Amino acid sequence: MTEKKLYKGFTLINGTGETPIENAFFIVEEKRVVKIGNAADLENHDNVEVIDLTGKTVMPGLINSHVHINMEPVGDPFASNDSDAKIAFRTAANLKKHLYAGTTFFRDLGGNRFIDIEARDAVNSGLLEGPEFLAAGQCICMTGGHGWSAGGREADGPDEVRKAAREQLRAGADLLKVMATGGVMTKGVEPGSPQLSEEEMRAAIEEAHNVGKKTATHAQGTVGIKNAVRAGIDSVEHAIFLDDELIEMMVARGTYIVPTLAAVDFIVKNGTEAGIPEYAVRKAKSVQEAHKESIRKAYKAGVKIAMGTDSGTPFNLHGSAPYEVKLLNECCMTPMDALVAATKGSADCLGILENYGTLEEGKFADFLVLDENPLDNLDTLFNINSVYKLGRKVR
Ligand SMILES: [Zn+2]
Repeated sequence: MTEKKLYKGFTLINGTGETPIENAFFIVEEKRVVKIGNAADLENHDNVEVIDLTGKTVMPGLINSHVHINMEPVGDPFASNDSDAKIAFRTAANLKKHLYAGTTFFRDLGGNRFIDIEARDAVNSGLLEGPEFLAAGQCICMTGGHGWSAGGREADGPDEVRKAAREQLRAGADLLKVMATGGVMTKGVEPGSPQLSEEEMRAAIEEAHNVGKKTATHAQGTVGIKNAVRAGIDSVEHAIFLDDELIEMMVARGTYIVPTLAAVDFIVKNGTEAGIPEYAVRKAKSVQEAHKESIRKAYKAGVKIAMGTDSGTPFNLHGSAPYEVKLLNECCMTPMDALVAATKGSADCLGILENYGTLEEGKFADFLVLDENPLDNLDTLFNINSVYKLGRKVR
């Protein structure tokens, strides 16, 4: 006999942006939500375990579109020369932190020596506890470009980038990450400067799209972002300097932005006193206002936005998704739109919307039980009552 559970009495925010259902119920059979409705219409259900959630709010588990699960969020995470074993143990611990803080699925955008891919497989086989996730393997960057000192695969020229892309796919990457511009955390490179060229990125993007996989780019400066969008990228990470032409291009192509406001915020808030390199603090401070302005403009114009934290960067803890939701709200988004970005938006960005991201009949039962309605108080996401993954209570 299959196990059935009936949850009832709660306010349901289903992740689509629709008006919440009061006094809702759903039935979970094995790993999926099989029926949803209003508890007032509930017929008798025999042989069903009933869980009364009166007074609670239920929403889909958070989906974090930008994580570095192998990275330790210390002042200078790129400086470490840790062994594979140490990185693996750390990764196992980081996975639990995300799950217990309400992230039930995420996307890793750049790991070390394919330990990200091994961890993904370990979660899927039940060896490690954690959210399911998609892994990009090594990020692909130009020689000396952003990411090279963080385990990136350096490649120059379209042919070599194509080869680097194929290496990631051979290792089992679910998507590819290419570096379009400089960044904050690499010494000697500037966030605004373009790096991999349009032709180079196009080679990698073609390889991913040939096998039905998505692509993401680290892109901060306008020229580099345009190169990536023209090359056919699926999501732009950070998107610090946008202009009107770029916003129009992204709306027309349906390109996602993953703002990662938390990454810059944690660097600025903690500063050099906390051991963050001077060049990183200087660069983060100089871009923060322009970044928020770009995200505001893009949101107003209707660019699709997904939630991602860049966890693993300085003091950007694993499990920081609620913090990013708050920052999206403070920057410009309504609480409902911020929640949609963190659930349905991220699932769409990752290409997993068929099974995840909303609470609708047929989807996986990944959900959060909250003591308060987050539409009234987003802070309730920092104190989640319980987390369910594939129908099982994990916290
Ligand atoms: Zn990142």
